[in-house]
Amino acid sequence: MAPHAHTAPQSIFDGPVVVVGAGVAGLVTAHLLAEAGAEVVVIEKLDQVGGLARSYIYEDRYVFDCGPHRFDTSNPNVKSYLERVLSEGGTFFPRKSEVYFKGKYYGWPIKPQNLVQLPPDIAGKAFVDLARNSSRQYGEGSFEDYILRQYGPTLYEHFFLGYSNKFLGIHPRETHSDWAKVGINRAILDDNAQMQNLFQLLKSTLLQFDKKPQHFLYPTGGMHEAWASVSAQIRRLGGRIFTGTGARMEGANGRVHTVWAGKESFHPSAVVWTAPITLASQQLGLPVPDLTYLGLLLYNVVVKEEAPRDYQWCYYGASDLLINRVSVPRFFSPATCPPGMTGYCCEVTCMEGDERWRSAERLMDWVIDDLRKVGLVRDPRNVIEARVERVGDSYPIYRKDYPGQLEQARRGLAGFSNLHLAGRTGLFWYNNMDHSIENAMQLSSRLLRESGRAEAKEEQLARGA
Ligand SMILES: Cc1cc2nc3c(=O)[nH]c(=O)nc-3n(C[C@H](O)[C@H](O)[C@H](O)COP(=O)(O)OP(=O)(O)OC[C@H]3O[C@@H](n4cnc5c(N)ncnc54)[C@H](O)[C@@H]3O)c2cc1C
Repeated sequence: MAPHAHTAPQSIFDGPVVVVGAGVAGLVTAHLLAEAGAEVVVIEKLDQVGGLARSYIYEDRYVFDCGPHRFDTSNPNVKSYLERVLSEGGTFFPRKSEVYFKGKYYGWPIKPQNLVQLPPDIAGKAFVDLARNSSRQYGEGSFEDYILRQYGPTLYEHFFLGYSNKFLGIHPRETHSDWAKVGINRAILDDNAQMQNLFQLLKSTLLQFDKKPQHFLYPTGGMHEAWASVSAQIRRLGGRIFTGTGARMEGANGRVHTVWAGKESFHPSAVVWTAPITLASQQLGLPVPDLTYLGLLLYNVVVKEEAPRDYQWCYYGASDLLINRVSVPRFFSPATCPPGMTGYCCEVTCMEGDERWRSAERLMDWVIDDLRKVGLVRDPRNVIEARVERVGDSYPIYRKDYPGQLEQARRGLAGFSNLHLAGRTGLFWYNNMDHSIENAMQLSSRLLRESGRAEAKEEQLARGA
């Protein structure tokens, strides 16, 4: 079949808005623009939508997300958007996460009261650190500096150094402090637990007493339900979604003039790019920044046993274990696994294309043995399903020199007036789904405003309605 150009029928823009990537940011942008009357085309490289928030479904009955995923937002616009999208039903669960440390399980995020449960020598040293911490001088800029200042040397050495090395594959000294500020703080630590010194520790401890457990929203049948619902609404509004097709951009004279989806081409009024920023630079002939994303291997294991622990996820930092984190889908929603069985999603990080990535299947026995060692699987013969999934571009790696590289890439791409970067991978931003939704809301509002046809819809978009 000869390649042919697709010309837009009617749109509030001068041609289709092409959205590259059907993750959260891409889908929500396309949805909001389609509701406002734009012609949208979404192009997704993978065979399914959802990006990092996709799910894997085996034998129609075991559902695993791409690592543990739940919604958490205080933004009322994001909340009302999610209510609209989760018309199939959502469920709330109380947060329970843990960390496995020296053969024992502890509550996580670290709370001040956890300190006294630590082995006495470590707890004693951690308290001495906190007493001295205000008078100590630390450097600036690296993840190591940040954690030392925040928690002192003992907790840094015992908790953060090993886990961070194992997870990222680079030393905390080589990691930018943003990794702690935007990532670890949100994902791992408790915002309310300030522990820089003994006074803060005491204050945080007292605050914990009247704190209600946090509840998270989750689509009843798995995270994929949210994105199936958004995709259906895009299609109902006349939008097109291509899957299994990597997008390719061509540009000249300060504009992206063509985007290819396989053999079909589009002349876009605007391009919303949520795929890696490095790929955008490469496709448009710009210098490719030295920015890398972490690869993630998911070992999804189903065991015909009840779960001995009831956490949603747990961190495993020990160097003799391959697994970094394990999550249990049934404690997000029981609908994700039949009764009497337990699914474990085990995360192992690597670099895309490295030895571990290429021969991931060979490590399955090791992972199952890890599950036995940490007391989750009683008998490996009870494993009835075991699959490996490879996830590319899972986390932006914040090396110390990343801000300069990112700035240079952004500046180059800003030379294309109809190109708009968005989302976690497009912006090289360690964010969560709610941030990608907010980002999509702001971007769609801006595009509509710039099209000069947005008066009626703008307010509606801002409300997420
Ligand atoms: C293990 C893990 C756990 C997480 N847990 C949570 C959580 O509990 N709560 C939370 O809110 N967030 C969580 N997140 C973060 C959340 O997954 C992301 O913030 C969100 O999914 C990002 O969506 P996005 O659309 O911005 O980016 P992405 O999901 O990265 O979307 C980019 C899309 O572009 C596609 N693409 C790439 N190249 C091309 C190409 N050439 N052509 C076309 N398409 C292309 C990709 O396949 C992908 O679908 C977690 C992330 C991970 C990795």
